[in-house]
Amino acid sequence: MPNIKEYSVEDINALFVSWGQKPYRAKQVIRWLYGRGVRSFSEMTDLSEELRTKLTESFTLNSPELAEQRDSADGTTKYLWRYNDGNTVESVLLNYRYGTSVCVSTQAGCRMGCKFCASPDAGFARNLTASEILDQVLFAQLKSGTQIGRIDLMGIGEPLDNFDNVVRFITLVRDPLFSPGGRAKGSAPGLNIGMRHITVSTCGLVPQIAKFAELEIPCNLSVSLHAPDDETRSALMPVNNRYNIAELIDCCERYYNKLNRRITFQYALIKGVNDSPAQAKLLAGLMRKVSGHVNLIHLNDTGNGLKAGDDRAFGALLLERGATVTTRRSLGADIDAACGMLRRRTIEKGQREVVTA
Ligand code: SAH
Repeated sequence: MPNIKEYSVEDINALFVSWGQKPYRAKQVIRWLYGRGVRSFSEMTDLSEELRTKLTESFTLNSPELAEQRDSADGTTKYLWRYNDGNTVESVLLNYRYGTSVCVSTQAGCRMGCKFCASPDAGFARNLTASEILDQVLFAQLKSGTQIGRIDLMGIGEPLDNFDNVVRFITLVRDPLFSPGGRAKGSAPGLNIGMRHITVSTCGLVPQIAKFAELEIPCNLSVSLHAPDDETRSALMPVNNRYNIAELIDCCERYYNKLNRRITFQYALIKGVNDSPAQAKLLAGLMRKVSGHVNLIHLNDTGNGLKAGDDRAFGALLLERGATVTTRRSLGADIDAACGMLRRRTIEKGQREVVTA
């Protein structure tokens, strides 16, 4: 049976028309789903018994359970969700001065194998569906009681390795009707997030970036670069053996020219690995070519022996060479907020994990 949350507002409207229902009934259902986050059709108490039964017989809801929640002293919250096949993923809710953002996972596990990341250790189970990604946003909003303003696809998984579901997810969020007005008493508002507040982050799957550019979705693109030379990047990120830096930068240049949107390049400084002045110079050169922006990330220690480099010194070298640079604030260090750390720990503890891939 399909999950009704895979349906767009338009799909639900069309379904209700085909069932001979009044159009406002579709709106009621959407309000229950996205305003209230109900877990069963029987909770939709303003629908007739007959319609609730028909929905129950035709669709699932499959909402994830909250398996664990960790609250950081700095206001960051990490959720570990368990889907009904037993697979777990993480989302992180971050509170900034300008609003709340949620960082969501796109796959249960990851196949990319980056050396500094905790995600690959726990293995790859499967892709998440569009509604499973959407549920992370919806339930983080409902659990926290705060309206989410930004979504980063930067949790566990490689979004462009799960291309169709990620694009479908963006299509679902894009629908303005997902912000159902007239919210029911006591419920959180629905989703209302503009494309410019969504960021897709990739480790650099070149053909998929090109395919994504074709869709001309006006969201933000972030590329995890982490090294400006092939030798270092291949040692850190196996994907670089498939698509090297020259190919990646060329593809990013085409993306920029087509969409006229600057790409942010993520760079986690690793002491003695990617933080030399020569590497700063190379990186500044790449950024000039692609009109890119560098975001320096503080490396989270995931117990693999790699240590964080000095962002200030490296950032200063980049600025001297005309690059634009920001430094990402490190949040949630006390709650294992780095990608995949909680899922990995859960699996290490031997909690149930179903691998179906
Ligand atoms: N696969 C996608 C998105 C998930 S990773 C990608 O590669 O972009 C999200 C971001 O966290 C990426 O920039 C990734 O390189 C970074 N990251 C992973 N492990 C990290 C760590 N230990 N410390 C700091 N950043 C890390």
